[in-house]
Amino acid sequence: MNDVILSGRGLVKHYPIKGGVFRTTVGQVHAVDGVDLDLRAGETLGVVGESGCGKSTLGRLLMCLETPTAGSLIFDGEDVLKKGATELRHLRRNVQIVFQDPYTSLNPRKTVGDIVAEPFEIHPEVVPKKGIRTRVQELLELVGMPPEAMNRYPHQFSGGQRQRIGVARGIALNPKVLICDEPVSALDVSVQAQVVNLLEKLQRELGLAYVFIAHDLAVVRHISDRVAVMYLGKIVESGDEEQIYEHPTHPYTQALLSAVPVPDPTLRGRREQIVLTGDVPSPANPPAGCRFHTRCWMAQEICSTKEPELISRDDQMGGHVSACHFAAVRAPEAPAQA
Ligand code: SF4
Repeated sequence: MNDVILSGRGLVKHYPIKGGVFRTTVGQVHAVDGVDLDLRAGETLGVVGESGCGKSTLGRLLMCLETPTAGSLIFDGEDVLKKGATELRHLRRNVQIVFQDPYTSLNPRKTVGDIVAEPFEIHPEVVPKKGIRTRVQELLELVGMPPEAMNRYPHQFSGGQRQRIGVARGIALNPKVLICDEPVSALDVSVQAQVVNLLEKLQRELGLAYVFIAHDLAVVRHISDRVAVMYLGKIVESGDEEQIYEHPTHPYTQALLSAVPVPDPTLRGRREQIVLTGDVPSPANPPAGCRFHTRCWMAQEICSTKEPELISRDDQMGGHVSACHFAAVRAPEAPAQA
């Protein structure tokens, strides 16, 4: 569990904003703004945050679906962005993605067999042509789909079954890492649990590492070993599942957790919900200092001028880092848990 297989250092992704008659660049959207991240073999790293915080862009950077504006990406000890096409190909074979929407991510004109076999067109070295059909059947079986599904089309399946097909395609090349970008948020709650259970089973059987991107904190807690919380393109707190959920030190994490529904009515009264006022600032014009200061109920003068570093605020916390000037002086608060 301690071997880091994928690292991002100082990852930045800015998108130009075009305007005027000549469509010149008039600004930049700061989608991801200096993210450091390590993923260890066989673990699940949850990435949470509100919509538009940059978590999906980060997922795409980690597999080079998007080229970072700056920063480095290290896979299996090699800096993929500095090396040539061979290292990039190695990364793309070993870091695969499962997309959010099983309704649009599968080509409706292709059979399930062709969809699951798509990766073999790009990486023919993985399975010889005559072995593809058998391999597709194996993959479908692994994700709980009947072998006859390979001759049918995506529209003949439910959302949960389509996501299973997406997972089968994701693991086709025997990757080491699967980026799961909101893999269950388009599904009914009962089906979500089945897909999460499937991902856990595959992790145990295949030793996969997951970057599990989601906005549902309860699902992320269930599946993650470690969790990173993102706000406006930056990680503001990260730690193991217990540190983040039982002892959050960043006011943004505390606010997110306080909004998680508590099913037990006896615990509901104990929870003080922190209601964030104001909108998330535009990523085209992020606030100076701490990016959260425009919505933070604990903000002080320094917060609007000095950006807090993402560092361990307490030696006791080992691996629990927080980007808040006052995380160390405040007793960590633990919103009531279900
Ligand atoms: Fe709030 Fe200041 Fe901490 Fe930012 S640094 S989270 S504004 S208290």
